Amino acid sequence: MTRPEYDVAIVGASIAGCTAATLFARGGLRVALLESRADPNAYKRVCTHFIQASATPTIERLGVAQAIEAAGGIRNGIDIWTRWGWIRREGNGGGRYPGYGYNIRRETLDPMLRRLAASTPGVDLLPGHVAERLFVDGGRIVGVGARRGDETTRDVNARLVVAADGRQSRIAELALVPPRVKAHNRFGYFAYYRGMSLRSGTKSQMWFLEPDIAYTFPNDGGLTLLACMPTKDKLAGFKANVETAFELMFRRLPEGPSLAHAERASGFLGMVEMPNLSRRPTLPGLAFIGDAALATDPLWGVGCGWAFQSAEWLVDCVGDALATDQLLDRGLARYARRHHAALAAHDFLICDYATGRPYNALERLLYSAAARDPAAARHFQEFGARNISVGQFLSPRALARALWVNAGHWWRSRRPKPTGRAAQRA
Ligand SMILES: Cc1cc2nc3c(=O)[nH]c(=O)nc-3n(C[C@H](O)[C@H](O)[C@H](O)COP(=O)(O)OP(=O)(O)OC[C@H]3O[C@@H](n4cnc5c(N)ncnc54)[C@H](O)[C@@H]3O)c2cc1C
Repeated sequence: MTRPEYDVAIVGASIAGCTAATLFARGGLRVALLESRADPNAYKRVCTHFIQASATPTIERLGVAQAIEAAGGIRNGIDIWTRWGWIRREGNGGGRYPGYGYNIRRETLDPMLRRLAASTPGVDLLPGHVAERLFVDGGRIVGVGARRGDETTRDVNARLVVAADGRQSRIAELALVPPRVKAHNRFGYFAYYRGMSLRSGTKSQMWFLEPDIAYTFPNDGGLTLLACMPTKDKLAGFKANVETAFELMFRRLPEGPSLAHAERASGFLGMVEMPNLSRRPTLPGLAFIGDAALATDPLWGVGCGWAFQSAEWLVDCVGDALATDQLLDRGLARYARRHHAALAAHDFLICDYATGRPYNALERLLYSAAARDPAAARHFQEFGARNISVGQFLSPRALARALWVNAGHWWRSRRPKPTGRAAQRA
């Protein structure tokens, strides 16, 4: 068998693609990294930039944590408002799990990751190459064909093709891998503000307004991104005057930001259709990572973190397994299992809440306890940061603690209030 030109051909040089390219090449593999956009500073515009703590080990393994902080990226955490009060996690780290992720604008992050990949020996970055064909041999994907400009084409043969080309994955279309689609009943708008001070300091904030959601995300460059995700029944009214509707929403927030003391630094960006998409993560000779494998509701800010992590899982599962088709297939099966084990249950819950439905009984129990008890708050925050699985989040111990916290709260609220001298002593 003749050796193909590359070990791995990756389509898409954004978070997932650059992470995979860098880590594969560090393992000694030859990597072609194709990116449709020619500008090395291109970046994803529709993102609110909150990278969950679950991705911090991958970011550290890549060696970009320092560069992110030097570029003004913020170690993040988030205060969450619910009808029961704020869910706050005290401190940043020191526990079993990474205590913080990062807030960094994609305008800063994407070119940084692309430079990292391009400067890694073994990676050939091919900007301005639009993948538009797949080569198949004996039922396996064995390469990808790209168009550069109107005239030139480039064929890249590789042992493994990786689709890191985002939620609309062209590679999935070419490979006849349709997405499973689950409806999303919210739309989103956001804008950047300069000079905004938040009661949470540099922590982000999220308001569960049942069913609408609002956020503040401090970022690099002295910019704070404000975002909201109302349910779609409000879309027509919102669109009639976006500025007024947006600002009204933030003025009404409990302990919300003061728009009067900040300057809006961008127009409003809107996203109306954001269906939840998932795809089987492998075929013979092909793997999907990042949004191409799973693109869920941005309400929870998990996509960037999972793009980093799924790229790392793929490299760890197949990086040493490219010698024969058989080994590669086993590696791909390991990756598919790992992806499923880590993300399928999270995806299920996220899609369920994306319908805009009211809280269910378990959510009422756990959210209310988290607003009342520091340990329950920490548990809730570990789940939001995707540091723990759905099984751990709903463990009997966590449910028992939440019941105990809420029973104590109920009992205290029923106790007669002290009056007279007793009240003075209290
Ligand atoms: C409104 C909104 C807000 C969000 N906010 C957050 C957030 O706060 N936190 C968070 O974690 N996630 C957020 N996300 C999700 C996050 O943006 C994505 O999960 C993340 O960008 C996925 O990274 P990726 O590398 O898989 O794909 P992408 O970033 O989509 O990159 C795909 C790359 O592939 C390239 N490409 C596409 N087709 C081809 C082709 N045919 N040939 C060559 N190249 C191609 C593209 O140019 C691009 O560079 C948000 C999403 C939305 C919609």
